[in-house]
Amino acid sequence: MNYQSTRDKSISVSSAHAIKTGLSAEGGLFVPESFPTVSLKEIKELSSKSYNERAYFVLSKFLTDFTEEELKDCIEKAYKKEKFGTSSIAPLYKLSNTTYFLELWHGPTCAFKDMALQILPHLLTTSMKKTKEDKEIVILVATSGDTGKAALEGFRDVNGTRIIVFYPDNGVSEIQKLQMVTQEGNNVNVAAVRGNFDDAQNGVKKIFTDNEYKSLLDRNHFKLSSANSINWGRLVPQIVYYFSAYAELLKNNEITAGDKINVVVPTGNFGNILAAYYAKKMGLPIAKFICASNENNVLTDFINTGIYNKNRDFHTTISPSMDILISSNLERFLYDLTERDDKVITDLMNSLNTKGSYEIPENIKQKMQSEFYAGCCDDAETMATIKKCASEYDYVIDTHTAVAKFVYDKYASETGDKTKTVIASTASPFKFNQSVLIALKDHTAVVGKDEFTLLNELSEESNMQIPKSLYELKDKSIVFDLVCDKDEMHQIVSDFLMVE
Ligand SMILES: *Cc1c(COP(=O)(O)O)cnc(C)c1O
Repeated sequence: MNYQSTRDKSISVSSAHAIKTGLSAEGGLFVPESFPTVSLKEIKELSSKSYNERAYFVLSKFLTDFTEEELKDCIEKAYKKEKFGTSSIAPLYKLSNTTYFLELWHGPTCAFKDMALQILPHLLTTSMKKTKEDKEIVILVATSGDTGKAALEGFRDVNGTRIIVFYPDNGVSEIQKLQMVTQEGNNVNVAAVRGNFDDAQNGVKKIFTDNEYKSLLDRNHFKLSSANSINWGRLVPQIVYYFSAYAELLKNNEITAGDKINVVVPTGNFGNILAAYYAKKMGLPIAKFICASNENNVLTDFINTGIYNKNRDFHTTISPSMDILISSNLERFLYDLTERDDKVITDLMNSLNTKGSYEIPENIKQKMQSEFYAGCCDDAETMATIKKCASEYDYVIDTHTAVAKFVYDKYASETGDKTKTVIASTASPFKFNQSVLIALKDHTAVVGKDEFTLLNELSEESNMQIPKSLYELKDKSIVFDLVCDKDEMHQIVSDFLMVE
């Protein structure tokens, strides 16, 4: 199967090429030329299979230029019991007779980004080999928290790659900072940038677009690459866990094969929910997609009105991984809704670039609304949802997952829909311990306490074990204490790679 670009469908490349390049040259995103279909019989068979077998089943339908051996090797390296603490990799938790949480946070960094970033480095290095690229890959990341750590863990000690992560000096939580500055691995580097996330991101963009610098790296046998969520290699592993969730429901006799389920996703860049939509295109029985946003509710407005408008205030919330005004993966969704109209997509994206907004035609809007419901909630509602879920069900969720639960409850009470529903649970509550503890108790509960005291208290409050990777931070030594100005970022890269 080949891949085309959302802005020029005459382009046709292999999956290895799509993964290696990330973005198409004219700015479009790579999408499969068609969607492989899956029969109900095959879905039933998945219920007796392991997560890794389910992953092979889905990935092999998309990455047709990879050999069986190559794919299985990537999967085995990514989804190991030792890394996820459970052989089910993405366990399904039954909350009630209608509601299930798909726990996507058992990976090494305690957030769902691991589901894709544990396998991406292997897909990427395999793609490099397949396309006869012999340079060493250098991954540059600017992070506001979750992505940087997940990318570091994914790429650490992967042969043929190096990774450099820049985070804003004062822009990440204490635990996120600790996770990064104690990073282990023989190919990793981490630096703090004086400024905010935008400063770090602009610095990285500058390096990516500096052709002179690129040729210097080229001469030294390095090739810059990014690990961001528009890469097909990050999206395709996310389709797997929706099939896996359905297979678990079948296995536990919660549904019978063919029953439709709803899916709820706390959404930022639209990657996770798009993966669910792609699963449905392949034949997974899904009724409604419920798209949940925090106060940065650009997607809620878009789905409800057909107008995307990023000209609005940016809110810093307690669900920071969803603080986003441009949802990049929406482009892939619109490409599909318009029945692959690359001209329309190019126009919409140009409008987004120049005016910061666009409006989709009425018929496309109706098509979208027939399958998608959207809602949002603020920080106070997020907090109240954490508290309510804990007292009603004795189950503690993180801030992002709480946004999803809130919007699902709103949907269920508005519609009376009793369809069995899977909510994507995207982070461990321990990763956002401060907000979660305040929600469960009150503001005074956290005052003057260090991260490790907070982890212990949350453990007592929730009857959950502190994830090993967070607990062990206490005894890790700090490896990276580099702080730089944004115009020194080039130099940091050069020093690390020893080029001049
Ligand atoms: C990245 C992230 C999200 C948003 O996912 P998208 O694929 O960008 O929509 C939600 N929750 C958590 C915890 C995340 O890290």
